[in-house]
Formats: sequence, structure tokens, C-alpha cells
Amino acid sequence: MLDFALYLLMISPSLIMLERIRIVLIGTSHPGNIGGVARAMHNMGLADLALVAPRCEVITQDSISRASGADHLLHQANVHATLEDAVADCTLAVGASARSRTLPWPMLSPRELADRLPTECQPADSRVALVFGREDSGLTNAELQRCHAHVHIPTNADFSSLNLAAAVQVLAYECRMAWLSQAQVDTPSVAQSDDDDLATHAELERYFEHLERTLIGIDFHDPAQPRQLMARLRRLYLRARPERMEMNILRGILSATEKAASSKQPKP
Ligand code: SAH
Repeated sequence: MLDFALYLLMISPSLIMLERIRIVLIGTSHPGNIGGVARAMHNMGLADLALVAPRCEVITQDSISRASGADHLLHQANVHATLEDAVADCTLAVGASARSRTLPWPMLSPRELADRLPTECQPADSRVALVFGREDSGLTNAELQRCHAHVHIPTNADFSSLNLAAAVQVLAYECRMAWLSQAQVDTPSVAQSDDDDLATHAELERYFEHLERTLIGIDFHDPAQPRQLMARLRRLYLRARPERMEMNILRGILSATEKAASSKQPKP
């Protein structure tokens, strides 16, 4: 067990960048939303939650149930009276806003924000605050003007306001993607699961022989007039980089095809 933990430590990149990102919620009025935010944060590996003058209780049945197992973030959240207190130690504060404001301010897209994070989070004492507003009225101009930049999640212009926890989810996801690309760790890819190995060259060759035999057997392929059929099929299969397990499935299909074709042959 300890060995496994050590192994995980060795292969997982340092969480330092994510540890330096704080989610700040101002004047939240629904405990369920705070719970939803905790869940979104924990899903993406963020843990620093600050609440500024919440207008509801933080630990309720609703918030715990919406946190779905991330309620430790609710218990460890720091509650502050003012935004200034919540971001006092932050080196960058970015206000999330659904609406454009009269006074233009440096504006970032979520991706542009993410691109800045690895550099912003480099110094040991750096802290980045992502500041979110009230469900009913968002952030005030005064609050937004305490932020270095604003971030707007591109949405339908006629319906631009996301649920608070959904807005946190989008930005937390961008933080995670920035962290993953910085650490050059690939997210598990659907195309290449790690539960089986890639087919070897020899296995592929055996498959191609079997495929050709079957295609001849069902009169789909005439070796006298090949028309590059096998070359084209090779190109298709090689592009897919099949795994051994997938190769076995395909060979099973060929065997079943041969069997079905032979049972339809007229009996001599
Ligand atoms: N009704 C409010 C929005 C409330 S949504 C208003 O009109 O301003 C609660 C918070 O979620 C917002 O204050 C903002 O911080 C965040 N949010 C919602 N939609 C967003 C968007 N499209 N882009 C950035 N932040 C958004």
C-alpha cells in the first residue's frame, strides 16, 4: 500500500499550481450552490475556498448533499467579512463576470486565464484568486475594480449567466487543463486505454492474412484484381493503432464470418 502511494507520488506531477488557486465566493445566498462549488473544486483538484459575507449558512443538508463527498472543503473554507480580507495575500485576482461593464477592464477568456496560470503560480508565495459574485446580482463594479482582470465565459448573449457552481466548474476545469499541460501529463485517452497493450506487428500481420483469406472466401476480394484493397485496409487499421484485445475481437468476427459463409455453401 505504501509502495503504491510512493509510486503515485512519483508519477503524479506536483499539485503546487492548483494549491495556489483560491476560489472566492461573494455574498452567496444558496447553501446548495456552495456545496456545488465544493464538488466542482474537488473534482478538479482545487481546495482553497474562501467565502466573503455569505448570505446563508454554509454547512446545511443542502450544501453537504450538493458537495457529494467534497464537504471537507466546506468545513475548511475560510469566511471573511470583506473581499479585501479574502484576497489580501493574493498576487493576482480575477473577477468572473457574466455581463460586460461600462468601464472597460482587462478582459480574459477562460483559456487566456489558464495560459497565464503556470507563470502566475510560479513564485512560492503567489496566490491567484478567482472571484465569483452573488447569484442574484453578480459582482459590484467596486468589487470588479479590485480585480486585476475580468474573465467572461463565452455564452449565449441572450442568456449569459451561468449557475454559480457551473461557472466555477468551467474555470476550475481550465485551471486543471493548464496544470495538466504544464506537467505534460496526458489525460486518459479514450482511444488508448491502458487496460491492454497495443497489438504487435506480428499480431497485425496475422490479422491481415486472416482478413485477406476471409475476404477472398466471401468473394469480396479477388487477388487477381487486387485494386490496392489490402493496402487500403492496412492503412485504415494501422491508423487506428488497435490493441491486442481489439485485434482478438476483429479476428473473432472474421472466424464467425467464415463459419457463416461456409454453412451457406451448397452442400456437394
Ligand atoms: N445575475 C448575475 C449573475 C449571477 S451568476 C449577473 O447578472 O451578474 C453568479 C456568478 O457566477 C457571477 O457573479 C459570476 O461570477 C459567475 N458567472 C456566471 N456566468 C458567468 C459567465 N458567463 N462568465 C463569467 N462568470 C460567470
